[in-house]
Amino acid sequence: MTALLRLDEVTRAYGTPPIAALAGVSLRIDAGEFVAIVGASGSGKSTLMNIIGTLDRPTSGSVHVGGVDTATLADADLSALRARLIGFVFQQFHLREGVTATDNVADGLLYTGIPRAERRRRAEEALSRVGLAHRRSHLPNQMSGGERQRVAIARAVVGDPPILLADEPTGNLDSRSGSGIVDLLHELNAAGTSIVVITHDPGLAARLPRRIAIGDGLLRSDSGVPA
Ligand code: ADP
Ligand code: MG
Repeated sequence: MTALLRLDEVTRAYGTPPIAALAGVSLRIDAGEFVAIVGASGSGKSTLMNIIGTLDRPTSGSVHVGGVDTATLADADLSALRARLIGFVFQQFHLREGVTATDNVADGLLYTGIPRAERRRRAEEALSRVGLAHRRSHLPNQMSGGERQRVAIARAVVGDPPILLADEPTGNLDSRSGSGIVDLLHELNAAGTSIVVITHDPGLAARLPRRIAIGDGLLRSDSGVPA
């Protein structure tokens, strides 16, 4: 079976003299998985997510997404692949202020060529999936942190990408809202989305079926896929 995501000996160096944020990471993630990537602050988690998500290219090594070697793609083709296959969620939500939940979610379909009315219809569907149908006309500053993160998740999944990447999605939330977000991610995974969650929260990681630890830019442990 073709791996959904595959990294081979990936490094990423920053600055001069170069400092290796990733020092040689090999990793395979299959369709249907729900994986936690854990590690201390500065260990390379966000660098790894940006490379898995094709927002950044490795200094050396190779990255395959959906069986495609990303090194063979020009930036425009890589963007198209990313738009089709990957949804992103970040710690800071990154919602547009002064814009309703529906329109924030519809932004997730901006570059698809789908007409605006249909984008809004699908956005309302996605808001229902995350339990926020009743907040569709609310602005970000009228919602709690947990609700804002649900809007961001709806925006990430509105185009039905097979892969969802989340970098510290509960990092700005109290533990109760955070736990609700983890429940939601479990529901999306059960419905078929493959998910990689980056976190330094051991409690969140403990609830996921596979945990990969990174330290100083290297894989330190991988609990593997449960049998
Ligand atoms: P984490 O997400 O685990 O906190 P990061 O991937 O953000 O870690 O960072 C890993 C290392 O790479 C850190 O030492 C950080 O300072 C460095 N780093 C990350 N991004 C950059 C950048 N754009 N320029 C220079 N150094 C960076
Ligand atoms: Mg980070």
